[in-house]
Order: sequence, then C-alpha cells, then structure tokens
Amino acid sequence: MGTYPMTDEDRDIQERARRFVDEELIPWEVHAEEHGGRIPQEARERHRRMAIELGLFAMNMPKELGGGELTMLQQVLVSEQIGRVTNGLGWCVHTPAAWAPAVVSAEQLERWIVPTIRGERHECYAITEAGAGSDVDAIEATARRDGDGYVLNGTKMHVTSFNTADHVFFQAKIAGGPHDGEHAMFFVDKDTPGVRLVREPAYSHTYPDTHAIVAFEDVRVPASHLIGEEGDGLAFTYEWFRYERLMIAARCCGAAERLIEEATAFAKERRQFEQPIIGFQAVAHMLADSLTELWAARLMTYELARSIDRGLDVKVQHAQCSMAKLYASEMANRVADRAVQIFGGRGYMRENVAERFYRELRVDRIWEGTSEIQRNIIADQLAKRGVTMLAG
Ligand SMILES: Cc1cc2nc3c(=O)[nH]c(=O)nc-3n(C[C@H](O)[C@H](O)[C@H](O)COP(=O)(O)OP(=O)(O)OC[C@H]3O[C@@H](n4cnc5c(N)ncnc54)[C@H](O)[C@@H]3O)c2cc1C
Repeated sequence: MGTYPMTDEDRDIQERARRFVDEELIPWEVHAEEHGGRIPQEARERHRRMAIELGLFAMNMPKELGGGELTMLQQVLVSEQIGRVTNGLGWCVHTPAAWAPAVVSAEQLERWIVPTIRGERHECYAITEAGAGSDVDAIEATARRDGDGYVLNGTKMHVTSFNTADHVFFQAKIAGGPHDGEHAMFFVDKDTPGVRLVREPAYSHTYPDTHAIVAFEDVRVPASHLIGEEGDGLAFTYEWFRYERLMIAARCCGAAERLIEEATAFAKERRQFEQPIIGFQAVAHMLADSLTELWAARLMTYELARSIDRGLDVKVQHAQCSMAKLYASEMANRVADRAVQIFGGRGYMRENVAERFYRELRVDRIWEGTSEIQRNIIADQLAKRGVTMLAG
C-alpha cells in the first residue's frame, strides 16, 4: 500500500487495475513475445470482457454515454497499472477519443462514439505522413468539397491499430473554398472504397497492433463525416495530445515500478563472488537512482492529474503535460537501461521483462511528440508565462 493521499475510491480502482494486470495480463507476456505479440483469441476476448466488467474500459468517457467517467487522478492510477505490463497486453483497457463527445454531431455520436465506448467499434488515428511528423501542420493530405460530400486524398504512416480498427480519424487540409489550407478531421470507415493498406512494417516492440502505412485515394465521404467545422481539425489533435501525454507519463511510472521491483528482487537473490549482487554499491546505486526518479515522476504525474480535476488552466496544462511526459518517459528509459544492466546477460533475453521494456519504452520518447518537441513546448510556455505559473 502506497502512502500518497487518496480517497478509498481511488485506492479501490487502483487495486482493481493492479490485480487485473498481475493476475490476468502479466502471465501472458512471454507467450505474446514468442508469438509475434499474439495470444489466443479466447484470452484476448476474456481480457476485453474483464476490462469492461471491472469498469476500466472507456474510463475517460462520460457516464451518460456508457463510459466510466473516472477522475483524471483515477485515470492516471489505472494507466499506471496498465504500464506495468509489456507487449501491448494492457491495450484491452481502451480509452476512446475523450475530446469527441463535445464536438461531434448526434449522428456521429450514435454511429461511431457510443459503439466504441461499448467496445463494439474501434478507431485509429491517421495524422502523420512521410513529410509531416513533428510538424503536424506540414500534412499534405487534402479534403476537397464535392457536392454533398468530400473527396479525401493522402498517404498516412504509423497508423496504430489499423489492423484492429474499423474506422479512422483522418486529418487533412481543406482544398479550395473559404477554409482552403486549414485542417479538418473526418470519420472514415475502413471499408470505404479508396482506403488501401500499403504495408505494415515491423517495429521494435512485439505488439499485436500494427502501425500501418495507409493510402486514401479519392475516398468519398458525405459531409456529415466532417467532425466539427472546417478549420477545427488541429484543435482536436492538440487536445488528444495533452491527454495522451499525461497517460504516457502514468504508464511510464508503472513500467518503472515493475522494473525496479523485478530488478531489486533479482539483485537480492542473484549471488556472485559469494554474495547477493545488491551488496555491490555499483548495483545498489542504480536501484537507488531509479527509485528516486520514479518518485519524482510519479509526484509530478499525480499532482498534474489532481490539478486538472480541480480545473487547471488549459495553457498551464499544455506545458505541464509536456513536462510530465518528457520527464517520466526519459526516467523510464533510464530505469530500463539500468534494469537490463542489473540482470546481466539475462537482461538481454526476450523472455526477460527488462529486455522487453528496454525496447518498448523507447517509443515513449518519440510518439505524441518527441522529447525535443516537448522541450520546445515547455520553453515556449516558460517564455510566455514564467516560472511561477508553470512550476510554482
Ligand atoms: C510506434 C509508433 C506509433 C505511432 N502511432 C501514430 C498514430 O497512430 N497516428 C499518427 O498519426 N502518428 C503516429 N505516430 C507518429 C508519431 O507521432 C511521430 O513519429 C512523431 O510525432 C515524430 O514524428 P517523426 O517520426 O516524423 O519524426 P520527425 O518529425 O522527422 O523528427 C526527427 C527528429 O528531428 C527532431 N525534430 C523535429 N523537429 C524539431 C524541432 N522543431 N526542434 C528540435 N528537434 C526537432 C525530432 O525530435 C526527432 O529527433 C506513431 C509513431 C510510432 C513510432
């Protein structure tokens, strides 16, 4: 039991998520690693069903739509537990687009959002392109108004979960008309003519979800598939980024906790030169540094979540979500590196949790904005708002 002050409800949801991860998900890690990230369909179904029954699925969505509507602190506590498991097994606890209910039409809500909250539909995001990564505004995908609809064109990359999704959030720039060159976001069903899977490259981690390259070639959608207004697209993406950055920070804290626990247990038990290796200061100090950094990252993450629950100004949120993501992801990567070192040769084996996290955590310094982009955001906000507002 931790010492951070929480309500009984907070502890209860944290404990529920922890038990689910320990008892249901972690036992499948090595199997998943050895089978290209896949586990038997019955186990996958069971995990999804349990995530729903335990109230973890769609925890970020409004209750009136069937979501869990947990506080931000509770969402962080759950995400942290999800972060303790490798191989994307925790992705059965899905968090749909929390920005969407406030901006979509009634028809869009019924057709895409509510079924996603129920776990019947699944979305993916197609924003990044070969020429537009950190610079989201450089996208070349277009949406051209044509009669009562739009014609979409563009090739997207790193489209996570395209293989498991049935619809796509497609971001493009409006071509022609009064909003020419502005961003817009569309719902596109995957089976719409013109949506073509180009390929599914292999990545460092062994996850069941792919990161596809997808071409959209003269894809016709009715105007009712536009989300919000022409020109709104980028604002939705930024809102999603803020949320995901905080959840990445939480997952990284969970990963670091697991790594420190496993490495400490190993260091106490593994003997060389006739003594447990934790008796060697070089090893013990790696654990001490890891624990200290985890505590710092966790306090940042929890406090930020609490402030958001209390209505923190969105500009300050923007900077603090970047700080939490930057610090926690870099912390977790340092911890994973040390854990591999402590496990020695065993730490280089894929059946070892440290080896898997060493590969898997690397992307947390890249996706939802690289560490360099987070630093740019933080520095920009610092110049505009000053130290006290952002860290006071
Ligand atoms: C596994 C995975 C899953 C992903 N899932 C999705 C998804 O589902 N949907 C989606 O749309 N995208 C997705 N992405 C894309 C991800 O968001 C981008 O990879 C990320 O934003 C970085 O863009 P980039 O890869 O093009 O790198 P680049 O932007 O080309 O950056 C290359 C390097 O230059 C640095 N750099 C760039 N600009 C600056 C600057 N201004 N100052 C300092 N340094 C800079 C970067 O930090 C980096 O080190 C995913 C990526 C990965 C790896």
